[in-house]
Amino acid sequence: MLPYAIAFLPPAEQARIIEKAISLDTSSESLSSIAKSVTVGSRYRRICASCVQEDLGLLGESYWRRAHLLPMSRTCATHGIELLETDIPVGGSRGTRNFVMPHQAKAARPCPPVAKEIERLVERVGLEALHRSIPQNENWSHVYKLRACELGYGMPSGDVASAALARGMANEFGLDFLVKHGARFSRAATSSWPALLVRPDSAPNVSATRHVFMHAFLRLGVRAPEQVLQTYKRPGKAPRNLSSTDEEATRRFREFQEVWKQSSRRFTVREVLEVLGLAQTYRHHYVEFPSLRAALRVFRYTELAERQIGRRKRVYASSAKRK
Ligand SMILES: [Zn+2]
Repeated sequence: MLPYAIAFLPPAEQARIIEKAISLDTSSESLSSIAKSVTVGSRYRRICASCVQEDLGLLGESYWRRAHLLPMSRTCATHGIELLETDIPVGGSRGTRNFVMPHQAKAARPCPPVAKEIERLVERVGLEALHRSIPQNENWSHVYKLRACELGYGMPSGDVASAALARGMANEFGLDFLVKHGARFSRAATSSWPALLVRPDSAPNVSATRHVFMHAFLRLGVRAPEQVLQTYKRPGKAPRNLSSTDEEATRRFREFQEVWKQSSRRFTVREVLEVLGLAQTYRHHYVEFPSLRAALRVFRYTELAERQIGRRKRVYASSAKRK
């Protein structure tokens, strides 16, 4: 997995890490942290049923394919079919110290099919990184910035409207996908990883998977919405229109509920506000968010709420009687 993990580092850094890996210097911390960064997003080893059958016919045994273990892999590039997730963890001692081969593993469930264009692109870029067909580059942030400006995210100052770019990425990938790959970010924050990645002077220490996401998004070519430029064209700080902020926040909150309602995850109100990037603003200006406030009141009674109000009442029913 090493070629994947280091694909986006400057060439000199790549050479240094490869040398370290070859010399088997087990004392080096950086190698294990690199390995760890690759396993985010893939909890269990995946196999392709057709690959396993072919291996068995050809070799009498099967082997684990790196391309199937990439965090974003869901289909076999050779056979074009969905991968199966086994019950064998990717990382940890059980993952590294056992000798179970793919044909001996219990295939637990098929991976969710790749539905969106952006997910197909993520898979493709991930494989390119693994096979070392991503060109070497000293400063990817510079390339990202140029491409983002091409897509209309450039501001008159020459910087990238990074919050708008991050919003575009969040819309395209969806919260579920980002959370699954440990790549979640707050849409509003200007210090989110997408924002840092398009700042050539920031030299962020960002995992290969996040580079893959940025590559895929910029390849997809989603143009900046018109209002991005209009907001930035005004000299000085744009006046904050709170009623539209409330509307926008409520809309995003509904989106959030939509995404998570099928899952078993529960959220506190505070977590919800953090996901929406509103934790600070809402605390100081909650009076100006009537619509979001109403939506949050209803939320407290839903299955999605960590401290569901309806349920609590039942628990305290006996003490209420005593009054
Ligand atoms: Zn296959």
